[in-house]
Amino acid sequence: MSQPAKPATPPAGRANAKKELSEHFKQYKHVWVFVEQERGHVHPVSWELMGSGRRLADKLGVELAAVVIGPAGEATRAAAAEAFCYGADLAYIVADDVLTDYRNESYTKALTDLVNTYKPEILLLGATTLGRDLAGAVATTLLTGLTADCTELEVDSDNSLAATRPTFGGSLLCTIYTLNFRPQMATVRPRVMEMPERVEKPVGRIIEFPLGMVEADIVTKILAFVPDRDKATSNLAYADIVVAGGMGLNSLENFQLVRQLAGVLGAEYGCSRPLVQKGWVSADRQIGQTGKTIRPKLYIAAGISGAIQHRVGVDGADLIVAINTDKNAPIFDFAHLALVTDAIRLLPALTEAFRKRLSPHTRDRIAS
Ligand SMILES: Cc1cc2nc3c(=O)[nH]c(=O)nc-3n(C[C@H](O)[C@H](O)[C@H](O)COP(=O)(O)OP(=O)(O)OC[C@H]3O[C@@H](n4cnc5c(N)ncnc54)[C@H](O)[C@@H]3O)c2cc1C
Repeated sequence: MSQPAKPATPPAGRANAKKELSEHFKQYKHVWVFVEQERGHVHPVSWELMGSGRRLADKLGVELAAVVIGPAGEATRAAAAEAFCYGADLAYIVADDVLTDYRNESYTKALTDLVNTYKPEILLLGATTLGRDLAGAVATTLLTGLTADCTELEVDSDNSLAATRPTFGGSLLCTIYTLNFRPQMATVRPRVMEMPERVEKPVGRIIEFPLGMVEADIVTKILAFVPDRDKATSNLAYADIVVAGGMGLNSLENFQLVRQLAGVLGAEYGCSRPLVQKGWVSADRQIGQTGKTIRPKLYIAAGISGAIQHRVGVDGADLIVAINTDKNAPIFDFAHLALVTDAIRLLPALTEAFRKRLSPHTRDRIAS
């Protein structure tokens, strides 16, 4: 979807590559963030994006709008009201009971009709399952560029969105521009951007927009709704403490040492990619470029080398403790505390020590 990759610092000749934006696209103004909600639960990535959106809007001197799509009723209005506390200047609402659960057809219509009517220059969505599905469909329908899984969003000297993301297996960063089309679309994974502070604010300007579609127009039917949060899947992205293991642990049996330490610390457990590939750990627990991005207060990595594809997923951790037998392991280049030792021996000792010293009350204090 996106145009060819550009280096992070645009070369002087970049302007030559840029065709003049058509008169039609020059009308596109303002920054929009899609507020993802399912049955009244707003995904926190939406508020993380409001922080980025606010910064971009201020640089461009334009407004920041939240876009809330959902069923008619209180939950959709509450999500819009909350958006003002995270920096929105206004909110667009498309509320219709046909939109109670996400379906690509109805949400794509709601968002593309809004874009065609109010013409934003930048549109940001979370790179969640829902956000990825919706962003691709909206970009395809609008025939514009979409940069997926961005790690940085900036406005360059000629006010274009510079959307940076890893490429070539994470070994390079590229900055992608949507030069000749609008809106400039980007998705960002949960926890990549910092959560802005919530500041209590009154509800501001709200613009309601009709869906213009009825149930009979939609081919997809919802048979059951099973929310992710009710499944026994991990909550790695939002955990305060994460303990992870890598190939240095050597076996599935030894990986249980990671789970035991995580259990005592009240932490989530995760792993590097090869453990998922071996089938030892489920994919939702993989940390890194093709797994989860985490921002815990404490990250303990045992037997993980610290390859760049792993590092990009943990760089936002406040404190990284690495256990590795090789003092030259790359993980020691970015860990805050380096323990050069055998993780298979250290992990049970740590578990035992924490078990003795930590009451559940103390654990809560570590996490706060
Ligand atoms: C496109 C692409 C995407 C990728 N995405 C991801 C991703 O999302 N997440 C990810 O993790 N990887 C990802 N990878 C793989 C990544 O490049 C590395 O191969 C992987 O992270 C290595 O896993 P590891 O550190 O567990 O294993 P290894 O590289 O094998 O490292 C094992 C480490 O354990 C140490 N060790 C050995 N024995 C012990 C012991 N007894 N105690 C302590 N330390 C010990 C070793 O010194 C070594 O540093 C990706 C690769 C590609 C090409």
